[in-house]
Amino acid sequence: MNILVINAGSSSLKSSLFQVVEGKVDATPLWQAQVDFTYRPEETLIQTRRRGGGWVSFPSIPPQAGINGLAPLFQSLWQGEEALLPGAKAIDAIGHRVVHGGSLYQRPTQISPIVEQTIEQLIPLAPAHNPAALEGIRLLGHLAPGIPQVAVFDTAFHQQMPAAAALYPLPYAWAEQGIRRYGFHGINHEYCARRAAELLNRPLSELRLITCHLGNGCSLAAIRGGKSVDTTMGYTPLEGLMMGSRSGSVDPGILIHQLRQGMSVEELDRILNRESGLKGVSGLSSDMRTVLEAMEAGHKRAELAFDLFIHRLRSQIGSMLMNLDRLDALVFSGGIGENSAPVRAATCADLGFLGIQIDPVLNAGSPRNCDISTFDAAVRVLVISAQEDWAIATACQAVLQGE
Ligand code: ADP
Repeated sequence: MNILVINAGSSSLKSSLFQVVEGKVDATPLWQAQVDFTYRPEETLIQTRRRGGGWVSFPSIPPQAGINGLAPLFQSLWQGEEALLPGAKAIDAIGHRVVHGGSLYQRPTQISPIVEQTIEQLIPLAPAHNPAALEGIRLLGHLAPGIPQVAVFDTAFHQQMPAAAALYPLPYAWAEQGIRRYGFHGINHEYCARRAAELLNRPLSELRLITCHLGNGCSLAAIRGGKSVDTTMGYTPLEGLMMGSRSGSVDPGILIHQLRQGMSVEELDRILNRESGLKGVSGLSSDMRTVLEAMEAGHKRAELAFDLFIHRLRSQIGSMLMNLDRLDALVFSGGIGENSAPVRAATCADLGFLGIQIDPVLNAGSPRNCDISTFDAAVRVLVISAQEDWAIATACQAVLQGE
């Protein structure tokens, strides 16, 4: 069985082709592609890689062509002398990451015209992401007709959160209009929970976890027995933690003030999403690596940005903790969570009173899918590499097998 995964974002796209071997999706894809639509104003960066090989460039397309312009990229899988597959029909399923599934979808779902229509109706809730997913679904429906397509939603994992965690203290009529907390990054939070159970060699049903997805976007989930009971992102991916260029939660009174001062809604949207967070505070970059380097060189605002990031992360870990009756493990994932020893060290500093204590040597040693806590700490601290595409392929396989 071959499963093609498409993870289409607002300005980039990642795709992987997986093989199912002995009933399990092989973790190493047969083929991968990454597309950056913002590479140059007139040029898209497209790279592909086959199992065992390095990244090679694929002929560029103008960025304006968008996802539709990627038809030759996907067709190269089954057309031409170098094709990996004998034809499009050799693909058994196509899995798409869909950021917003609203309240309707609690699990991965095979795409039908109705599902497609719903993803379209949810565009106002995810204006930067759902349109890209739809374009991918439509393109592959056209290029590989008749192959089942599956939507794997980033919101689905959080759909069973208790009402107290899912609603805002706003007029109830707003909740009835769909203004409630959806949460995001569910594909990775769920994957981290399962992987944590494997690493700890304990059943997921008995674990209490806090998963920290720290990438360009950052969010936490409190997970009880494999179910998300609270998360930091809400109606949109703007709520919660401080992020690369997003503010995370701020006093809504500030927004009212800025609107009263004459700031346009578009400008406010841009500032909160693109000019805040690490970038806004440091004045340098949304990239944690740049902030850390500048901090080491004595840049005061980079230090302030780092301190704010950690302060908010620790505060919200505390808030997640209050939804659990104990904590078995704290999980770090995402580009920052997986790679930044200073972030993990600062997050866990002086938390011995909670049973959290990391081993500085293990933490500094580029940990991957392992436990970095001291041998006698009550709470395990794990570093887990995000494997979003593999998780999507696995969800896709489960849907096809009717699980
Ligand atoms: P996305 O959320 O777009 O998938 P990633 O999960 O790749 O992004 O995370 C990107 C973030 O990870 C950036 O802030 C980047 O600086 C950070 N990052 C990557 N490697 C390191 C590192 N070695 N140290 C600190 N931060 C890192």
